[in-house]
Amino acid sequence: MPEETIFSKIIRRELPADIVFQDDTVTAFRDISPQAPTHILIIPNKLITTVNDVTEEDEAAIGHMFVVAAKLAREEGIAEDGYRLIVNCNSHGGQIVFHLHMHLLGGRPMGRMVARPRD
Ligand code: 5GP
Repeated sequence: MPEETIFSKIIRRELPADIVFQDDTVTAFRDISPQAPTHILIIPNKLITTVNDVTEEDEAAIGHMFVVAAKLAREEGIAEDGYRLIVNCNSHGGQIVFHLHMHLLGGRPMGRMVARPRD
């Protein structure tokens, strides 16, 4: 069994978080250290550690994460101007929390897609 992270406690509401959406499949909450005016994390309620661990069984949940991202972008008023969705995987991807999550970032131009290591 993969080890739980702080995100499992947020899903179960055992730790405080600004949850903006939750249903049986996904939970979305504001990032504790926002990198843009809107910075929301969208996560599957099922503990999937990284993108490497996604299976066909998870396809519906992963698809639902995109549906929720689009809905939240509309609600945040950033859909028309646009936004960025990011999923980091392992060390080169910059993943810090090992519970799969999608970052929804917007409210300002997001700049270059990928920073070089010295940036
Ligand atoms: P990663 O680098 O793994 O893709 O991103 C993890 C994100 O989780 C970071 O943006 C970080 O600020 C956020 N984060 C880490 N711990 C907490 C927490 O306890 N609460 C919330 N809301 N966000 C967290």
